[in-house]
Amino acid sequence: MRLIMLGAPGAGKGTQAAKVAAKYQIPHISTGDIFRANIKNGTELGKKAKSYMDAGGLVPDELVCDLVADRIAQEDCSRGFILDGFPRTIPQAEALDAAVEKLGTKIDYAVDIEVPDENIIERMGGRRACLSCGATYHIMFNAPKKDGICDTCGGELVLRDDDKPETVKKRLDVYHTQTQPLIDYYSARGNLLEVDGTQGLEDVFASIVGKLGE
Ligand code: ADP
Ligand code: ADP
Ligand code: ZN
Repeated sequence: MRLIMLGAPGAGKGTQAAKVAAKYQIPHISTGDIFRANIKNGTELGKKAKSYMDAGGLVPDELVCDLVADRIAQEDCSRGFILDGFPRTIPQAEALDAAVEKLGTKIDYAVDIEVPDENIIERMGGRRACLSCGATYHIMFNAPKKDGICDTCGGELVLRDDDKPETVKKRLDVYHTQTQPLIDYYSARGNLLEVDGTQGLEDVFASIVGKLGE
């Protein structure tokens, strides 16, 4: 199964992608996590991406498209994958179509998690991220067992710099202008699945599984 997740920043893409990946036994590929890991390790890519991310903008398409094309061509993706945070622009969606076509396959579904902007600001302030393994938590809605410590890997949990309210507003603007058009793009291809993301975590997951099939 080859899937992509659509939705505003904070809609729950990462949370749901991790659960879907575990259930269907496919790799979870988050471009945001890839960039954050590169920043943490001080790579050239990380240095280039950081200023765009801190400002709440998008990293240029040319820094992300080849990276994803290479990743999905790896052996562990041969039976499918779930992309979280990519594509985010129409040129990225076109690059993805070309990359899957080259592999002789196609994207099965684009899962769009719908959450209004009002709910997003509240979610982001409470988000805590593990920079070691990419897991995300929420101080109220999905709290870790021990304060500030990742359940999965024991790493330290942080409030991401780009989750401060001013940056979140900028990211929502970027989402509406650059990423939301992808909803029509996938709808026109007949593979859009829409899910109400204002439900609790488990209900959102049940809705997704209900649409994808067991
Ligand atoms: P969120 O989970 O809140 O939507 P991500 O972790 O996916 O955020 O992304 C964090 C930041 O990384 C984005 O604001 C953007 O700067 C950059 N980024 C991630 N994926 C992409 C992409 N596909 N294209 C451009 N920039 C990206
Ligand atoms: P995205 O990857 O789309 O940016 P995340 O999965 O990181 O979003 O979720 C953003 C924040 O909202 C996290 O703190 C997460 O724990 C929390 N969250 C995710 N889904 C829900 C939900 N259905 N209800 C309440 N909080 C949620
Ligand atoms: Zn962790």
